[in-house]
Amino acid sequence: MDRNVKYLIIGAGISGLTFANYADGDYLIIEKEKGVGGYCRTIKKKDYVWDYAGHFFHFSTDEFKKKFLDSVNPEDIKYKDKNTKIIYKGELVDYPFQTNIHQLEKEEFIDCLYDLFHKEEKEDYDSFLDMLYGKFGKSIVEKFLKPYNEKLYAVDLKTLDKDAMGRFFPYADIPAIIDNMKANKDSTSYNNSFLYPRNGAGSFIQILYDALDSSKILMEHEVVKIDNEHKVAQLDDGSKINYEYLINTSPLNHFLGYFEGEKFSALKNRLSYNKVLVFNLGFNKKSKFTEEHWMYIPDKAVNFYRIGFYDNILDADKLSM
Ligand SMILES: Cc1cc2nc3c(=O)[nH]c(=O)nc-3n(C[C@H](O)[C@H](O)[C@H](O)COP(=O)(O)OP(=O)(O)OC[C@H]3O[C@@H](n4cnc5c(N)ncnc54)[C@H](O)[C@@H]3O)c2cc1C
Repeated sequence: MDRNVKYLIIGAGISGLTFANYADGDYLIIEKEKGVGGYCRTIKKKDYVWDYAGHFFHFSTDEFKKKFLDSVNPEDIKYKDKNTKIIYKGELVDYPFQTNIHQLEKEEFIDCLYDLFHKEEKEDYDSFLDMLYGKFGKSIVEKFLKPYNEKLYAVDLKTLDKDAMGRFFPYADIPAIIDNMKANKDSTSYNNSFLYPRNGAGSFIQILYDALDSSKILMEHEVVKIDNEHKVAQLDDGSKINYEYLINTSPLNHFLGYFEGEKFSALKNRLSYNKVLVFNLGFNKKSKFTEEHWMYIPDKAVNFYRIGFYDNILDADKLSM
């Protein structure tokens, strides 16, 4: 059966659900999975709560934060001062690396400090890697920033824009780095303290979902084709939806594949992307790490780049990684 709708939304992840919450009611969400939430889904098994990956919410306005917090039981929210480490040559160093170089062995510390003072800053940078060298000097870059970010992004950092990480990159100048040696108060992060729902990131998804009309969310249906000219989307069961506005939240490399024509396949071929594989592990006792929330692993001999400890965030008595 064909349908007409003002806003056709591909995907019921946090973006699609949020958009629908603010749309004027004439919307339809198509979601290919059985449940809503996308990457912000939560899995509960026995005593364990896992998200598809730990999701830390950084509300951009107080109004938005209040909307969420007013809808959950205050006891179901954990507030934490961030405790994050880097596993560097078998030792734990506080994150971010650049403001904690004083925690390294003396020789390494001197190398970092020397290069930091002799770095060659530029007016403008050609790439993310160029910016890192210019702002932090050779040693900080080559000991941590380069190997870690190469693991994270899985691309040559010269191909990334200098502002690729935006506000998520902990910039620090020499005074901030020197000050941190004495005060150990990181002022460079966007998330020095954070909150986490006891029942996982899915609690926030539930709030967005509950505010919607569930008959306007078509679960287990997939958009497979889009006729951009006539504004028609085709689903996997052959049905067609006429839309006025199309809101896409599916990955761009998939999205471009829904259109016919040379232009779209050429665009698709120009995209580069990586994938993240997340393992959730539960153990029947605590680990020796009882305070840390997550850790960064720059060592390329280790094929994962981060580990998180849900048990230390949720104050649970069994290790949940
Ligand atoms: C490991 C990891 C950790 C992260 N940590 C954080 C964090 O701490 N804080 C933070 O703010 N962000 C974090 N992010 C980013 C965050 O997960 C995403 O920005 C956010 O979840 C994207 O939501 P979305 O709704 O745009 O997309 P998605 O969550 O990808 O949702 C898209 C939805 O569309 C559906 N879909 C796809 N194609 C179709 C189709 N053809 N037809 C119908 N449905 C379709 C999918 O099934 C899915 O439900 C992290 C991401 C990863 C991978």
